[in-house]
Amino acid sequence: FLRTRGVSKSFHGRPVLKEADFRIGSGEIAVLIGKSGSGKSTLLRVIAGLEEPDAGDIDLAGETVVHDGEYQDAWKDLRGQIGMIFQSYTLWPHMNVLDNLTIAPRLTLGESKGELLERAEQALTEVGMARHLRSRCTQLSGGERQRVAIARALMMRPRLLLCDEITSALDPPVAAEVLGVLTKLKEEEGIACGIVTHDMAFASKAADRICFFEDGLIKEDVPPEQAFNDPQTPGLRAFIDAVR
Ligand code: ATP
Ligand code: MG
Repeated sequence: FLRTRGVSKSFHGRPVLKEADFRIGSGEIAVLIGKSGSGKSTLLRVIAGLEEPDAGDIDLAGETVVHDGEYQDAWKDLRGQIGMIFQSYTLWPHMNVLDNLTIAPRLTLGESKGELLERAEQALTEVGMARHLRSRCTQLSGGERQRVAIARALMMRPRLLLCDEITSALDPPVAAEVLGVLTKLKEEEGIACGIVTHDMAFASKAADRICFFEDGLIKEDVPPEQAFNDPQTPGLRAFIDAVR
């Protein structure tokens, strides 16, 4: 569903992405792992259009949306298929759950309240938060907030969800619950997921592919069994030894 080819990005002359090749199929969970500062967030942000690449191509839903670092016309039509969720500050604290879910579609798609209410209920049901439709966000726990953040992304009907350390601030059992929602979305809706996480239990259980990121590119792209039991590159071997 998504493919980057030779995507590069520098900050102040320092290369962070160096011709990164990355892909995520429909209904697939690709987990990105790698050392802090290796460029994982930058790669997700470039894919989401929050950061402009210097060079390279990005294909989305079979169309080339970035060619040679330049956005193509297809990007406008397809960017709505990407949802992104971050570690923190994901919800508007002063709004209730329903308003958080409906503000973007109200402003960008001009959809009616009735239709949005129904869709908000559906999205909250998907993440197990249906009874919190009218709750204030400040009254929700961290895990509940992240599930609402996923529901909010679902409001735009994404085909690709990018998640950047969305469970890093949560206790392990709560994190497992939040990440479990992503597995369900992949299985039931065929949504493609690109996930940066330090949760190796989740990665080994739920990932279709582990993508090990080092020095600005994907050094190894393998099924979890191989990543954890038989890493091929010295970098991944060292990383796995360090987290085990
Ligand atoms: P972590 O695991 O700590 O989140 P990461 O792999 O996500 O790390 P990035 O956040 O992508 O790493 O950052 C890669 C490098 O790019 C870092 O050295 C960071 O300081 C730099 N960087 C990222 N965004 C910017 C920016 N907007 N301006 C300048 N430098 C940046
Ligand atoms: Mg990061």
